[in-house]
Order: sequence, then structure tokens, then C-alpha cells
Amino acid sequence: MEQTFDKLLETIKCYNPNMDFDKIARAYDLAKEAHATQLRNTGEPYIIHPLAVAQILAELELDCDSIVGALLHDVVEDTDYSVTDIAREFGDGVAIIVDGVTKLSKIQYTNKEEQQIENLRKMFLAMAKDIRVILIKLADRLHNMRTIRFMSEEKQREKARETLEVYAALAHRLGMSKIKWELEDLSLRYLDPIAYREITESISQKRQEREQYIDDIIQTFRQKLDELGIHAQLMGRAKHFYSIFRKMYTQNKSIDEIYDLFAVRAIVDSVKDCYAVLGMVHEQYYPIPGRFKDYIAMPKPNMYQSLHTTVMGPHGIPFEIQIRTQEMHKVAEYGIAAHWKYKEGVSGTTDMDEKLAWIGKILEIQNETVDSDDFMRTLKIDLFADEVFVFTPKGDVINLPAGSTPIDFAFAIHTAIGCRMAGVRVNGKIATLDYALQNGDIVEVMTSSAVHGPSLDWLKICKTSQARTKINQWYKKEKREENILRGKDMIDKELKRLGYTHSQLFKPEWIELLLKKYGIQSVDDMFAAVGYGGITVNKILSRLKEEYRLAHKNEGMQHVIASAQKKQKSSSNGIVVEGIDNCLVRLSRCCNPVPGDDIIGYITRGRGVSVHRSDCPNIKAEEKQPSHNGRLIHVYWESQTGSSSYLTELQISAYDRQGLLAEITAILYDMKILITSLHTKTTKDQVAVLNITIEINSKEQLDTVVKKFSRLGGVFDVSRSNA
Ligand code: MN
Repeated sequence: MEQTFDKLLETIKCYNPNMDFDKIARAYDLAKEAHATQLRNTGEPYIIHPLAVAQILAELELDCDSIVGALLHDVVEDTDYSVTDIAREFGDGVAIIVDGVTKLSKIQYTNKEEQQIENLRKMFLAMAKDIRVILIKLADRLHNMRTIRFMSEEKQREKARETLEVYAALAHRLGMSKIKWELEDLSLRYLDPIAYREITESISQKRQEREQYIDDIIQTFRQKLDELGIHAQLMGRAKHFYSIFRKMYTQNKSIDEIYDLFAVRAIVDSVKDCYAVLGMVHEQYYPIPGRFKDYIAMPKPNMYQSLHTTVMGPHGIPFEIQIRTQEMHKVAEYGIAAHWKYKEGVSGTTDMDEKLAWIGKILEIQNETVDSDDFMRTLKIDLFADEVFVFTPKGDVINLPAGSTPIDFAFAIHTAIGCRMAGVRVNGKIATLDYALQNGDIVEVMTSSAVHGPSLDWLKICKTSQARTKINQWYKKEKREENILRGKDMIDKELKRLGYTHSQLFKPEWIELLLKKYGIQSVDDMFAAVGYGGITVNKILSRLKEEYRLAHKNEGMQHVIASAQKKQKSSSNGIVVEGIDNCLVRLSRCCNPVPGDDIIGYITRGRGVSVHRSDCPNIKAEEKQPSHNGRLIHVYWESQTGSSSYLTELQISAYDRQGLLAEITAILYDMKILITSLHTKTTKDQVAVLNITIEINSKEQLDTVVKKFSRLGGVFDVSRSNA
């Protein structure tokens, strides 16, 4: 075991003699101690596994945190150590990696159709966040596949399929051909043992014959290249078993018919030499038309570069040759580069390939970066930052925009499920409908036949247009009568609030213009649209108001003033005093309560009940005086406040700037809120303080105003004045 560890250190020293070997030794010691009592199902001590995973990563020449992460990758999952322990001992970088690996191991895999598997791969990348997490996961799987023979046959097949469909595919996408090939060959061995044996046996039978053939070609090439003075490494390229299997399977060929079993690779010192070798090859053997590819002049999006050509070799056996430089070779074998798809029989790039292409570009930069540790640290995955991937209870992956809620999920599954949703379980626990779904969540919608359609409130919660559209459609169709009534009611209320009568605004000729403008068929349709939220009351009324204003140009201003005066008169209503009917009720001027506030009544001498906010300092002072105790009385807001409005005073503090006052009044104008007074002063240090009294009809409206004011540039405080 110590030997294995020494080998790891040796491997690392070859590519980075300055690595933090102390940190690696500490990680090894901790892992050995943590896994001390565990055995692998091979019967070996467990530590063999993390050591092997670290070795694979060292062969990819990865940075220190990757190696340390590899040594510790199973510690959090299988032992008493926590991510916090890891962070304390080895820093946040390692902790994030180990945490990522632990989270990924919780993704469940079930045998699915291609689209589902593609989503699963994306989920993998989305959850990993850091590319090193994926690299450790790949190495982890590679070692597990190398040692899978001790598992049950069923388990072997299951793991092999998952390896092929998820891990090998990801390795392929990341351009890590070496790991990909080994994963594929190992998977094939357990998925189709007969085919595997057939291929390996027939290849080994012909090995000598093939090697002789390739050797002869290499001999010829070597001689020519010496004459030309070109230095090149020449080698026979072994095609891996799985790709042979695929060719036999997809092209229905026997192994003898697969001519690129014979392949030669030439690695040279410069790009110029690549073309020189190509010229020599084409002079020597007849090129097969349509098989020449210049990926040097036109690199693949993933930066893969090489010259490929197939020529007719000796004895009429065609063979392929790939020509590239040393650097090109490294990118092709180990590079975290996006995939080359020419062998997959797919044309055009997928969305995922495009997203991965950036990695290839970063690899180019890496060559110029001295400190490779720094480089790795910046290699974060944010390919899918705007998406979230969650599971159905059956293991299907559903892909939604980031921030989506269980409502979006339900409608993504089926409209009928969304419309009957009574609640939701996320990872087995009840969650609220506005919960923001996280990658890897298992989401289970609970439906009930007692639920008769989605709630209108859901429109505010859902994130996808799909959910919104389906909710709207449901309301449009199922609730037409109800919507018409609701729409009428909403319009009436708003009319009342604005101080208009129905007959003032609803002139048939104006209505006709309005319907035409919005493409609505009838007045009932218009009410229904308002009722289900398809069109806002505001849109309807502003148009009618405009017509009215044009028709009554001169009366306009007087009308607004009159309506303001009218409303002030009715502003003492809306309060219920416990146990007393018809008493004189007055809203206190010291704290200006609005509907929704917690309130308390105070019985005055001869002036009825004055109503205060329960946090009003004056009331707090009263409460302390024993002589006044009997004067406090419970009061409530009437549940239906109707069109009553309430005066409230806000104090806005802001850095003084041009246009601030205009923006504040514009907000109030847009919300149809009347201003009854406005004072501003500017302090010496350029802070503007605005005291503004406005008419509010509910606590919600007040909250909205406060929120809107707070968002204005320069505003740092908005508060309700207390006195
Ligand atoms: Mn492991």
C-alpha cells in the first residue's frame, strides 16, 4: 500500500515537483485512518480505492486539490468525517470538491431513453459546479469498473450500462478519450460478454498478422521521412473494442470488413511537418476520396487538431493515418476538451456541445498560464446556471429554468396534474409551492380530486410560461361565468376608487374601440379576460378614461379634486369596535394606521374612540398608566374595507439628486395614489428628507409604495412617520 502511495508521489513529481506533498501525505493519512475498518468487496483494504483514483488523476497531471480531493472522495460519504472537517484540515477548495463528489453519488440512475439520459448528463454537470468534481467521479468510476468482477452479475450489468450511458459519454464530451475508451471497453465486457470475447479473440488471433502489416508500413514511412529529414514518432493505433463493436453493430459488418482496424499515427514536431508527412503518405499510397480531413486548418470547436486521411495500403487493404504535433496529441488524449462526433454518426452540434466548447478555449489559455493550480481553480462549471434539473419519483429528469417552483414542475409533467395539485413533497418532505427547486431534488406532486383547478395566486409564483399559459387557459375555459362576474366586480371597484360611475366611462362607442384595439370579441369576453387576469383593469380603464378626458377636457381637473375631497370625508369608516355599535371612530393623527396594521382603540373623553397602531409610542405610554387602563379597547378592521382610504405619512431619506421628486410623484401617479401634502428639506450634507402624506387603501398598497420608493436610486430609508 505504501508502495502504491510512493508510486503516486513519483507520478506527481514527474509533472510538478513543487506540489504540496505535505498536504497530499496528510490527506492520505486521514483517508487511511477514516477507512481503516472498511474493506472493498474485493477483500482488500478500502484505502486501495482512493489511492487508485488519485493515481488516475495524477496520470492526467491534475492539480494538488484534485489529488487531495481524490484521496478523500469517499470519506464524507462513508465515514464519520464531515465536509466541515475537510474544510478545516484542507481548505475550502478541497471541501467543495469532496462535497460535490458526495452529492453526485446521490443521483439515482435508471435505464431510460436517450433524451432522459442526456438530461441526466446535464444534471451531472450542473450539480458538479467544478469540473474537477467530474474528473474525480470519472476516475472513481473507472477504478470501480476495473474491479467490478466481484459483484453480482445483475449489479455488473446495471453499473456497466450506467457507465456507458453517463460516464463514458461525459468523458467523451470532455475530450478525455483515454478514459472514455477504457470505460467503454469495460462496460462492453459486462454488457455483452459474448461479443466482447468474440472481438478480443479475433483481434488477438490476427494480432501478429496485423502488427506485421502495420510494421511494414511504418518501416516504409520511416525510410521516406529520414530522407526528408523529418523527425516523427510513428505507431500503430489500436482501435478499442467498443468502437469495433459499434461498427459491427451499426454497419452490420464482420470484423474483417472494418478497415480502420489498421491505423497509423504520426506525431511530429511542427505543423509544417504535419503537411510534409501528409504529402509523403499521398505520394506513397493512393488516397481514398472523401476521407481526407484537415482539422489543423479548421480545428473542431473543441480545439481538436490533426490531419486524417485513409489510403489504399499494400495488398489492397485500406488504412487510416492521423498526423499531429505533440501538443495536439495531448489535447486529443487527455484534454478536457469537447467531443469530436464524427464517429457517433450525429451531425450538427447539440446545445451541450456548444456549451462545453468554452473548455477547449480555456485549454488554450492554460498553455500560457504558468501556475496550473490557479488555472484549475478558475475552471468552474457554469454551463447550466440558468437551468435546474429535478427528478420525478420514477427517476425521469425534468429540466426547468432556474428558480422554478413545484407549480412549474407539475405543469411540465401534465396539465391535469397541475390543475389537481394539492401539495408537494420534495425529497420526501412536504414543501411549499413557492419553494425554489434545487438540482437533484426528487419532486412528488400530490393531487386530489377535491382540488378543482389551479389557484390564480399561482400565476405570481410560477416561473415558466408553460405553467402560466396552462393556468390562464384553464381559467379561460373552465370558469367563464365566474370570470365574467369577477371581471365586472374588479372593474366596478376600480371605477369607484377612481371616482367614476359606470355610465360615465362605458359609452358603447368607446367600448367598441377598446374591443377592437385588444382583439376581444364581446363585452363579456372582456370581463372574462379581466377576471382571469388576461388583461389588466388598468388597461381597460386607462383607455376609457382617456376618451372621457378628451370628451370633458375642461372638467378633468375639477373632477379629480372633487373625488379627493369626497374620499377624505369617508375616511373614518372601516373600523369595528368590540362590543359597541355606531360609535364615533377617529383614526389617530399621531400614527396614521392603515388597514392591515395591528390596531388598538382608546376611549377618549367625549370624542369617541381614537384608533392607534398598537406599536404607537403614545399608546405604549398610556398602557403604563394604571388610571387609563380601562380606556383601551379592542378594535378591528372591517374585513371588507371597500373604497375607504386612509391618510398615511411617509418619510423618505435620500441623497439629493435631480429628478428624485419627479420619480416619486410618478410612482404615485402610476398607482393612482393621491398626495395630500409634501414637504422636502435638504440637510447640509446633501441628504434630502421628504415628508409626504398620501391616501392609501390597504396595508398591501402601502407596502408596495414603500418597496417602490426604496428601490429608487439614492434612497436609503423609507419609514412611516410616527408623529
Ligand atoms: Mn469511490
